[in-house]
Amino acid sequence: MTAMKGGCLCGQIRYTLKSAPAATVLCHCTHCQKASGSAFSVNLVAPLSEIEMTGTLASYDDTGDSGNLLKRSFCGTCGSSIMSEPAARPGVAILKAGSLDDPSSVKPGLQIWTRSAQPWVKFAADMPSMEQGR
Ligand SMILES: [Zn+2]
Ligand SMILES: [Zn+2]
Repeated sequence: MTAMKGGCLCGQIRYTLKSAPAATVLCHCTHCQKASGSAFSVNLVAPLSEIEMTGTLASYDDTGDSGNLLKRSFCGTCGSSIMSEPAARPGVAILKAGSLDDPSSVKPGLQIWTRSAQPWVKFAADMPSMEQGR
């Protein structure tokens, strides 16, 4: 595949994901809803070493619905969510697919935390699902 490129709204952050993501996961957890200002997040799971990042990320150490520590990184200028790093899985990055230049290039294969999904999110009904995280 060709490398995937993305960045934040103001252009301060730019990144390249050099290989295909290991998984694409739709997350309905309440923290993703808060952090994204939307109903869910779309996440690309990839090794941190496969991501080239330019710009300066701001970050927040969040404790997720799972109880696990998650470093959420975003642009300090425009606030776009860019990436999370789970403390329990060192070297693993979770890129926010909405920050891709072409978000239509990925499709989620799994959804998690469906117990807090918004009731009108029905389009993903046939997708493999987990009520909580993993
Ligand atoms: Zn920005
Ligand atoms: Zn989440």
